[in-house]
Amino acid sequence: MLRLALRTRNLWVTRVPIVRTLNRLPLQKPVSSHYIRRYTHTWGSENIHYGSFPERTHNCGALNRKETGKSVTLCGWVPAVRSISNDLLFIPLRDAYGTTQLVFRSETCSNAEAANTLRSKINSLTPESVVCIQGVVRERPEGMRNKDLASGDIEVELQEVMCLNTAATNLPFLPGKQKLPKEEVRMKHRYLDLRRPELQQNIRLRSKVASIIRNYLTENQFVEVETPVLFKSTPEGAREYVVPTRNHGQFYALPQSPQQHKQMLMAAGIDRYYQIARCFRDEDLRADRQPEFTQIDLEMSFIKASDIQNIIEGMVTEIWKNTLNIQLDKSRFPHMTYQHAMSKYGSDKPDVRFGMHIHDISKHLPSASEDGVLECMVVKKGANLKTAEIRSVAQEYESQNGDLSKLNSVKINENNIGSWLEKCNLSKRSSDVATAQNSLNNELEIEQGDLVYIHKRSKYLYGGNTPLGKVRLQMSKLLQDASLLHIDPSDYKFLWVESFPLFTPDEAGLRTWQATHHPFTAPFPEDLALLESDPSKVRGQHYDLVLNGMEIGGGSIRIHYPEMQRFIFDKVLELQPHEYQRFDHLLEALAGGCPPHGGIALGFDRLMSIICGTPSIRDVIAFPKAGGGKDLVVNSPSELTTTQLAEYGLQLTKK
Ligand code: ASP
Repeated sequence: MLRLALRTRNLWVTRVPIVRTLNRLPLQKPVSSHYIRRYTHTWGSENIHYGSFPERTHNCGALNRKETGKSVTLCGWVPAVRSISNDLLFIPLRDAYGTTQLVFRSETCSNAEAANTLRSKINSLTPESVVCIQGVVRERPEGMRNKDLASGDIEVELQEVMCLNTAATNLPFLPGKQKLPKEEVRMKHRYLDLRRPELQQNIRLRSKVASIIRNYLTENQFVEVETPVLFKSTPEGAREYVVPTRNHGQFYALPQSPQQHKQMLMAAGIDRYYQIARCFRDEDLRADRQPEFTQIDLEMSFIKASDIQNIIEGMVTEIWKNTLNIQLDKSRFPHMTYQHAMSKYGSDKPDVRFGMHIHDISKHLPSASEDGVLECMVVKKGANLKTAEIRSVAQEYESQNGDLSKLNSVKINENNIGSWLEKCNLSKRSSDVATAQNSLNNELEIEQGDLVYIHKRSKYLYGGNTPLGKVRLQMSKLLQDASLLHIDPSDYKFLWVESFPLFTPDEAGLRTWQATHHPFTAPFPEDLALLESDPSKVRGQHYDLVLNGMEIGGGSIRIHYPEMQRFIFDKVLELQPHEYQRFDHLLEALAGGCPPHGGIALGFDRLMSIICGTPSIRDVIAFPKAGGGKDLVVNSPSELTTTQLAEYGLQLTKK
């Protein structure tokens, strides 16, 4: 109660004096007409209908020819009124369910005065005002029907219009307009943008998918458990958001995922856990990343990787069937090892909707492949791309890898088809080159019109892609833009990528290794001996679900022996004792009789953006953050007053 009172005093009352005045009136005392007269003008225009209004009989997507002749009451938003003449006005009334055309015809009003009153009410409506209307359903005249609207065969002849709230005339944009302002403006006024049918559909579909997931997992004996949002700072991987407390020097951290809690739930005997969980990562916000995002998070005990994969395949199949009307089956979820994905596609999340494979051609030119792997990629029809486009790909390569000498490209034409490899300066012995040239032409079916890349990479594969893998993706984009490659947007190619290296070199240079997935992933049992001798060769029991070149989920079988977990923290990841002691709760849970377990998390936002076919995940989140993690709706993050800072024992340093 005390908190509520404080909040009321601080936040509300000072900003809205009318509310305070009315709230403070003794309850017994009726509000005097003096107050009403005095404050009415601040509530809106004279045309507003105050108080109760008739209950709606239908929504704006529900009416059709069967209702012809019925008196109906509808509520919704009015875009601009379309005035044909003084005697004929049209309004496409919109609500969450659709649009119904309203029509004012002066001849159907009881008399001229009634017509004048109704007309002036309609004309005083500003775009995006909220109304309740009454009228009669009429069939539209032949030739005036709208096939694109569910209610396109009818219109409602207006008898009464009650304006429940006028919209300001200076709205930053109108959601019904074809030409919308830039995204920043739409994000700031999100309540207006969300009125657009496209966004409405996305948000509704998201809710439907969440319910499909809940039903499916409940049927499969999963238990939904909420885990804390006020968590603790632990060196799990990503940078965290920290939350100061009034206990000076003590901080919470927001969870980057419920990973540690879900493992403790396995130790607690929950056996099958799930949560549609909010996660927070203070990472560099690349184009389509959100600092807070949602995961479909699950964990199971006494299982192997294939059990988790089966559950996920079943869930995805259920979602695809009920949203896209596509029936998937087991054959739609092939498996590929990390090594294969990286060497054949140059990516740990290969887009397998198109070929353009990368071939290891080292055996053809052994002298040119020493201490590395010689790769060849044939871009079909690539010779038709502009030289400037091919050059820009090379420039990008150079800016990322520093050295262009390892990348060669040749456009194949009738003159060079028998000699193109010479241009790549790979070997001093021209007989070697000529033999390799013939074999490659045959094996890779190289023909005129192709663009051929020859590239030398290092043998050791790690990270998310190889340099030629990046070129492959750029080429696919250029070919698609030039209509030389067609990828069907409704072709959904799933793939399990597995057998990742458990550790990746730490490029930040702070320590030798970092966990490829997270530090709780179990090694392959047959690689255990390598943990001490050669961590680079240890494979992790980690699997990613990839769809059309995007990682939509990832998980692993976990380490459930505390000794092994401590060894990895201490000896391989080289965490300091004060760092790995932050995981004591987890190590104790593992030591207290924890079953073998594993799990996975799917990115819900990304999944929805694929299902809705949106270019950005922002289009499937009701209130997304903009670039730099900014919430443009409430304008946050925002500063604190010095008094507030003092309460948390914080002091700002100068920038
Ligand atoms: N917690 C992991 C993540 O957020 C997923 C998992 O391993 O279950 O990527």
